[in-house]
Amino acid sequence: SKIDHIRNFAIIAHIDHGKSTIADRIIHSCGGLTEREMKAQVLDSMDIERERGITIKAQTVKLNYKAKDGKKYILNIIDTPGHVDFSYEVSRSLYACEGSILIVDSTQGVEAQTLANVYQALDINHEIVPVLNKVDLPASDLEKTKKQIEDVIGIDTENAIPCSGKTGEGIEDILEQIIVSLPSPEGEKDANLRCLLVDSWYDTYLGVVILVRVIDGKISKNMKIKMMSTNQEYIVEKVGVFTPKANDINELNAGEIGFITTGIKVLSETKVGDTICDASKPPEEALPGFKPSKPVVFCGLFPVDSSEYQKLKDGLGKLQLNDASFSYEAESSSALGLGFRCGFLGLLHLEIITERLEREFDINLLTTTPGVVYKVHMNKGEVIELQNPSSLPEPTLINYIEEPWIKATIITPDEYLGPIIKVCQDKRGVQTNLSYSGNRAVLSYEIPLNEVVFDFNDRLKSMTSGYASFDYEIIDHREGELVKLGILVNAEPVDALSMMVHKDFAQIVGREVCEKLRDLIPRHNFMIPVQAAIGGKIIARETIKGFKKDVLTKIHGGGARDRKRKLLDKQKKGKARGKQFGKVEIPQEAFIGVLKIN
Ligand code: GDP
Ligand code: MG
Repeated sequence: SKIDHIRNFAIIAHIDHGKSTIADRIIHSCGGLTEREMKAQVLDSMDIERERGITIKAQTVKLNYKAKDGKKYILNIIDTPGHVDFSYEVSRSLYACEGSILIVDSTQGVEAQTLANVYQALDINHEIVPVLNKVDLPASDLEKTKKQIEDVIGIDTENAIPCSGKTGEGIEDILEQIIVSLPSPEGEKDANLRCLLVDSWYDTYLGVVILVRVIDGKISKNMKIKMMSTNQEYIVEKVGVFTPKANDINELNAGEIGFITTGIKVLSETKVGDTICDASKPPEEALPGFKPSKPVVFCGLFPVDSSEYQKLKDGLGKLQLNDASFSYEAESSSALGLGFRCGFLGLLHLEIITERLEREFDINLLTTTPGVVYKVHMNKGEVIELQNPSSLPEPTLINYIEEPWIKATIITPDEYLGPIIKVCQDKRGVQTNLSYSGNRAVLSYEIPLNEVVFDFNDRLKSMTSGYASFDYEIIDHREGELVKLGILVNAEPVDALSMMVHKDFAQIVGREVCEKLRDLIPRHNFMIPVQAAIGGKIIARETIKGFKKDVLTKIHGGGARDRKRKLLDKQKKGKARGKQFGKVEIPQEAFIGVLKIN
C-alpha cells in the first residue's frame, strides 16, 4: 500500500547546473540546518569535492516539510554525482527513490549528463520534476531551455519550475511540486523485512555504515539480519537518519531511507544492491539488484622514493575503506621497483585518488600510462584479462585481442559538429545517430574506450570553448588489431611507458611519444636515443643531445634570464620528481606528458 506521508527523490543534473546549491536551499528551508550551521554546500563533504566542485559519494538527508495542504511530510533527498565516471553512483541512488528532480541550468540548456542521468531515471519509471535554475542571471532563457528539454529528452515541461539556487526564488514551488507530482513509496509495513542495500562506506567513529532503503517491514536495533547474497548474519547495532547530521533512532519503516551499523569491519561484506532481510524470516525473493561498478581504467602507481612503498600501501588501504570501486594489487616493475596496479572508474576517478594519496598521505607518486582492460584470446582457447600492457603474452601465442567499446553521446551547438565528427572518426568511431533541437545537436557514436579515455573530454571542451558535453557507457568488447608499443630510453625498455595501441596508430603514436620524451627528459652530459618499438622492430626514434657543462652561459639575448630560470626550474623539478633508468633520469612530467598524446 501507499505510504502517503513520504517522498523519496534524487536530484539529477549536469555538473555545475546547481544541484548541490539547490539541495542546500531545500535543506535550509525545511529547517534541517540553521543559517549559522549551513556552511557552503553541506552535501559535498570531502575537501577535494569542495575544491573541484563535484559530488563523489551520493549523500542522503531526511527532512520534515509542512505542505500547503496542511499535512506533514517526510522528504528523503539523495544528492547524486554529476561526472561520467560516477554514473554508477547515480544509478544506485535512483533505485532508492520514486522520483527525481531534474535541474537544468537555464543559461546553458540540456547537456550530455543531463540526458544520461534522466534516461537512467526514466528507465526505472521515475516521475520527473523539471527545474529551470539560475533565473537570476541575465542569460537565462526559459523558453529555449523548455523546448530543449522537450525535444532532446522528450518530457513535458508544462509544470517546469523556474528557480534560483542563488536567491532562493522558486524553492517553495519545488517542494510543493514534489508533494503533488512525485509518487509516495509503496510497501507493506507489517510484512517481513525486505530492505535494499543502497551504499556503504567507512566512518572513523561508526565503522562500516550501510545506507538502506526499507521496502517492506521494518529494521530495528538489535535485530538479527541477513545479507541475502552471502547468507551472512549480523546484529543491527545502530539505526539512524541524516538530518543532515547523523541521528540515532530505534527503527526504520517501509518506505524510509536511513543507515544502519552492524559491526561489519570490511566494506566488501556489504554488496551494493544486496537485499537485507530478517534472519529468521527470509523472503522468497530478493529485490532486483543492480550491477556492480567495475574499474575500467588501469595504471601503475609507484612511489618516487622507494622507501615510501609502505606509506603508499597504507594510503591505498585507507582510501579503499571508503571507495570499494577502485582496486589495487602489488606490482613490481623492472624500471620503477615496487608499486601497485590500480583500477579506476575513469580518468577523473584516477586523478582524485592520486591527488588524495599525494595530499592526505604526503606521498610523491609516479603514475604510469593508463590503459583499459583487454581480453586476450590465446591460441589454446584461454582468455586473459589484460590490465597491464607489459604483461602481454608473446604475440605468436595470441589468437586475437578484444577491446571495450562505448556508446558516446555528445551534445553540442551545431556549429562545432564538423570538427567533433572528425575527431570521432579519427578515433575509429562509428556514428549511430544525429538529431537536433534548434541549433543544438545530439550526436551518438560507438568508439573504442581506449581512444577516448585519456583526453577526449578535454579536447571536446577546448574545441568547442566548453559548449559541448559528453557522456558514455560501455556496450561490448570487439576484436581489434592491437599491438604493444614499447619505449626504449638509452636502449633500455621502460616497461612503465609501454602501451596498447591500434596497429594503424602505432607509427604516429610512437613518433609522438619519442618527441614528447625528447622534450621532457632533461639533457644529460651524453647523447640519449629514445625509441619506439613493436616487438623487436624500431618504428620511431629521437635523440636527446648531450650538453656541455656551460649550457647555462650560452643563453643570450632578450628574455634570457627568463629562459634560464625556466631551465633551472625544470631541472630542479626533474630532480625532485625524477626516477633513474640506468644512466638516465626521467622526470614525472615525462610520464604525464606521454598520457596527453592522442
Ligand atoms: P552542481 O555541480 O550541480 O552541484 O552545482 P553547484 O550547486 O555546485 O553550482 C555550480 C555553480 O553555480 C556554483 O558556483 C553555484 O554558486 C552556482 N549557482 C548555482 N545555482 C545558481 C543560481 O541559481 N544562480 C546563480 N547565479 N548561480 C548559481
Ligand atoms: Mg555538487
